[in-house]
Amino acid sequence: MQGVGFRPFLYNLACELKLAGYVLNSSAGLTAEVEGDPAAIDAFVHRATEEAPPLAWIQQIETAALPPTGDRIFEIRESLDVTGEFALISPDVATCDACLAEVGNPRDRRFLYPFTNCTNCGPRYTIVQDVPYDRPNTTMARFHMCADCRTEYKNPRDRRFHAQPNACPACGPSLSAPVHEAIRQLAEGRIVALKGLGGFHLACDARNAAAVELLRTRKRRSDKPFALMCRDLEAAARICHVSDVERGLLLGPQHPIVVLPRLEGSGIPEAVAPGNRTLGVMLPYTPLHYLFFRGAPFDTLVMTSGNISEEPIVTRNEEALDRLRPVADWFLLHDRDIFMRTDDSVVRVFEGVPRLLRRSRGYAPQTVEMPHDTPELLACGGELKNALCLTKGRHAILSQHIGDLENFETLAFFEETLVNLRTLFRVTPRAVAHDLHPQYLSTRYALSMTGVEHIGVQHHHAHIASCMAEHGLDGRVIGVAFDGTGYGNDGRIWGGEFLVADYRDFERRAHLRYVPLAGGDAAVREPWRAALAYLRDTFGEAPGDLLRDVPEARQRVVRQMIERGVNTVATSSCGRLFDAVAAIAGLRTEVTFEGQAAIELEAIVDPAEQGLYGFEVTTGDVRQLDLRPAIAEMVRDLREGIGPPVIAARFHNTLAHAIAAVCLHLREETGLTRVCLSGGTFQNFTLLERTLPLLRAAGLETFLHRLVPPNDGGIALGQAAIAAARLTTPSA
Ligand SMILES: [Zn+2]
Ligand SMILES: [Zn+2]
Ligand SMILES: [Zn+2]
Repeated sequence: MQGVGFRPFLYNLACELKLAGYVLNSSAGLTAEVEGDPAAIDAFVHRATEEAPPLAWIQQIETAALPPTGDRIFEIRESLDVTGEFALISPDVATCDACLAEVGNPRDRRFLYPFTNCTNCGPRYTIVQDVPYDRPNTTMARFHMCADCRTEYKNPRDRRFHAQPNACPACGPSLSAPVHEAIRQLAEGRIVALKGLGGFHLACDARNAAAVELLRTRKRRSDKPFALMCRDLEAAARICHVSDVERGLLLGPQHPIVVLPRLEGSGIPEAVAPGNRTLGVMLPYTPLHYLFFRGAPFDTLVMTSGNISEEPIVTRNEEALDRLRPVADWFLLHDRDIFMRTDDSVVRVFEGVPRLLRRSRGYAPQTVEMPHDTPELLACGGELKNALCLTKGRHAILSQHIGDLENFETLAFFEETLVNLRTLFRVTPRAVAHDLHPQYLSTRYALSMTGVEHIGVQHHHAHIASCMAEHGLDGRVIGVAFDGTGYGNDGRIWGGEFLVADYRDFERRAHLRYVPLAGGDAAVREPWRAALAYLRDTFGEAPGDLLRDVPEARQRVVRQMIERGVNTVATSSCGRLFDAVAAIAGLRTEVTFEGQAAIELEAIVDPAEQGLYGFEVTTGDVRQLDLRPAIAEMVRDLREGIGPPVIAARFHNTLAHAIAAVCLHLREETGLTRVCLSGGTFQNFTLLERTLPLLRAAGLETFLHRLVPPNDGGIALGQAAIAAARLTTPSA
């Protein structure tokens, strides 16, 4: 089991049933021995699962009969360390209602205390340094519980029984300045760096456009949307539409950022999420957050990760004072150390099901069940949105979101996380799985490991296997893997791929027609380069009346690069296709982050438009999906004065029909009826909404991600599943 409050729950249950024995936590899990009336013992086992505390998650229960020992009492014993075994570590849990009531009660000894927690809530993964999960193994070790706290801690009938981070104003951590001062700073439009649960946040009043702009400038954060924290559900509902499922997520134990449809006239400045129809919203999840809104004149704060540009979120006080100095006007620190950094998780609901887009605080390090027993492995993930994965038995231990492995700081975070998870879960990998891209830092890290087998896994195969693994699928499936960039077996950049795959192997059965992309990384920052490639491919020469924002001289250079094959690579990337369409439609010719053009293209789709463009699917062992007819018709639409929202809609419809057409060919050829959709492109829910009905109407069964992100944050799970299959099943 993992979770919280299990020992006191079993203690109280045993006392009620008049059973003797003991319960203890060990690194092998939770062990209980009970003796007494056989009917009472049966009831104990039954009720242990049926009435488990809300946050406990039981993976498996094993029972065995032992000779009676003559015990008369039931007790909770000290934790044990068992070599080679591990216990599951709980993720951090948002503040519970009971704790919140105490923080708001002037007669309670924890009135206004920002570090209030109990067995049912508070920090876990972020403060645990080793197992078993006991106070000396956490960053709370240096705070000595006062007599009152100790009494709670020792009383099995108390809500704080064995609550390891238990604390109060007399004995626990404290803030560097009063909260009311932070509120004043925020109300006056300043940017405040505040230490949270898994790292620092940078906060400002979300309704103050000047403060938001200033934060964006100082943070050098391109145009990526900022997350918001609302005072409460009512405040969230004033700016966004909130469904029942989304309400449950906002208020649930994880308290993730939930991506919600933004309401017209919300009063939230455009600079919070430029070009987006959605806002990322979360509710307060620590007592400190609640105190920020208590009596404050604002109801919504920008709460973005405390980092500069793409570096990892800052966790240590000295580091914050140094690195965040150029961004923050004021700091609110505290003296409870953060051991494991976690960002806020991001979830979006599709078809009534929560889907993780970034898996971190509240979710990590909860394990995902593997479809098969697995040797101990490490999977290093990809380059962007990296997360790593360790396996042990049936457990896939996915790390929290680590980030883009493009700088030294993020690589250091990767290594720290790996060491920590290996310690907590007692994993000694015998093989390491990695992406095929030779330049990825994750690949180079994997290849630098000695004494282990190295297993290279194709990027899109990993995407599909991760979707299969989280659904427990076996056998072969049709896999549609659409994303920005993935290294192909032929050395080209793939990203619009149709595979027939199982865990071991895959065949590439179809892909988007290759176009020549010039300029390496610049091609990702400048969507007009993809547009030029598609226009040349369609018309032989890019028509002069398009791409007018790009100086002719620059276009000429890129044309020459393509003609001479200089710094040019053939790509089937769907991300670049979206870039091309966005640029052709006149939306933008440059972006500040990958996927920006696609997000904006999706955001302007005219929902009523049903039209679509032409496309062709070639025959052969590896079919090509040829969208030149679509590009030609799109250009004709533009010349006829048809607006970008209609063009964007027709493009989405076209791609949906093209995906369905290829899948039907593959079903015809293989008899397979299960389709897994993965890759960053499928964060585009408009595309999904238009694709899924076509596949389902044709009798295909569709599988989407829920537990891990469809983007590269999910591929470590797939790499692990593939490596396990290659190690455990003989080659065909
Ligand atoms: Zn609590
Ligand atoms: Zn105390
Ligand atoms: Zn990918």
